[in-house]
Amino acid sequence: MDHHRIPPNTHVDLSKIESRYTGETSKKEGQAQLKKFRKELIDLQELLFAENKRQLLIVLQGIDTSGKDGTIRHVFGDVNPQGTRVVNFKVPTRHDLAHDYLWRVHQHTPAKGEIVIFNRSHYEDVLVVRVHNLVPNTVWSKRYLHINEFERLLADEGAIILKFLLHISKRTQAERFLARLDRPDKNWKFNPDDLEERKHWQDYQAAFEAMLSQTSTPWAPWYVIPSDRKWYRNLAVASVIVETLKGLDMQFPTAVPDIESYRGKLEAILADDPT
Ligand code: ADP
Repeated sequence: MDHHRIPPNTHVDLSKIESRYTGETSKKEGQAQLKKFRKELIDLQELLFAENKRQLLIVLQGIDTSGKDGTIRHVFGDVNPQGTRVVNFKVPTRHDLAHDYLWRVHQHTPAKGEIVIFNRSHYEDVLVVRVHNLVPNTVWSKRYLHINEFERLLADEGAIILKFLLHISKRTQAERFLARLDRPDKNWKFNPDDLEERKHWQDYQAAFEAMLSQTSTPWAPWYVIPSDRKWYRNLAVASVIVETLKGLDMQFPTAVPDIESYRGKLEAILADDPT
């Protein structure tokens, strides 16, 4: 899955990166592999929690309908909810805006042993903010460097950071909006404002490209995930996370010294106390 990773300081042209997976794995094979990764993730999360040395931060970005919610559900659906958290970054409140833009983010970064998934993130401050000129160019343009240093701080303090851009075509977005209208259980998700936002498609692509080019670092790499096919999107994200966690070579903590000596004591307690 390393071929989805953006090397540091690379000029990214999203129009040259496929949004639709066309490789040899079939959907059926992909779904079987995902099942295996989901199982592995259960054990790896438990190990991360038990070891309590490192923390995992996952950042999900992507245009409307790219599948951020679905990815979380399909990749993390089996893991123990204790020790895993999803944080959704919505429009900042007045209180948020009274602070620097990283203030609301830092409060939600993972503690040791924890997995935190950012559904949208501090990158909105160089995406929607840039596209809609919510602050002047002179302000947002400095943020790429801040973000790299902020993530370096987290990494230096033990965080593993993985960032995924869910890359879809403009046509796929229109198809997914339409699918929302067709399904009674989905049409509550349709918001006419989303069609207004779609008019800024090219500006968003440019903002994504600048983000990828300037903030994929050795300590917090970006992966661009072809996401037109949902099964491949889920598989690719799961694979990167599982392989990264396996690479940490985590160990369960050692038991208290002389643990076997407690066996006799516990057996005596049980023998003495029939209740
Ligand atoms: P989602 O689309 O993630 O399911 P919403 O429909 O509530 O959830 O969208 C959240 C909105 O908040 C998005 O339009 C996003 O661009 C916006 N948002 C998030 N962070 C910021 C930010 N820092 N500044 C401005 N808008 C933001």
